[in-house]
Amino acid sequence: MRVLVVEDEKKTASFVRKALQSEGFAVDVCGNGDDALTAVAGTLFDGIVLDIMLPGRDGLSVLRQLREGGNKTPVLLLSARGSVNERVEGLNAGADDYLPKPFVIAELVARVRALGRRGGEVKSTLLRLADLTLDTVSHRAERGGKTFELTAREFRLLEFLMRTPGRICGRMSIIEKVWDYDFDPGTNLVDVYVKRLREKIDDDFEPKLLHTVRGIGYVLKEAP
Ligand code: CA
Repeated sequence: MRVLVVEDEKKTASFVRKALQSEGFAVDVCGNGDDALTAVAGTLFDGIVLDIMLPGRDGLSVLRQLREGGNKTPVLLLSARGSVNERVEGLNAGADDYLPKPFVIAELVARVRALGRRGGEVKSTLLRLADLTLDTVSHRAERGGKTFELTAREFRLLEFLMRTPGRICGRMSIIEKVWDYDFDPGTNLVDVYVKRLREKIDDDFEPKLLHTVRGIGYVLKEAP
């Protein structure tokens, strides 16, 4: 995992670089916002640790510039001024996470590692809803740190629902998409598979994600 650290205070930058390197990250360091934008234009990073207080262009401006240009690299913002307003401003500008200074280095490392996991979703092999993820390559689902093996049919059902989050899927459309039948087999096939899927992804967790819409079908969404 390659990380860019943008921080003008040399001691902090070097401390963060060493900590990340000792955890196996490849680390580049920039001391100002313009250098950071140049670095990001030339290298694909898995995450950026971005200090807000920088000489010249500040961290929020760097972040806005990146997002306006379509760059989706996950960003962890750092700031000495841990005000709520600044945090909100940072998250609105497209930051993925925020860590006020002074920070404990182990927490920074853990958050950078978490950024890397978020980065996976832009590669589109990972579908995500709340804390549920589905890897469309390995056919594995994960929720709350627990991994589930899915059968081929369960995988197709979950993938179909995750690609249409918040949309009510009728039993017939599920049968067509997941079983490739163009007729109603007249059984409770869908309900049986939904039940199995629920046991895996919902039984031990809150909030429930897979909801029944009585008489119609099912919907996968965060809110009830
Ligand atoms: Ca700084």
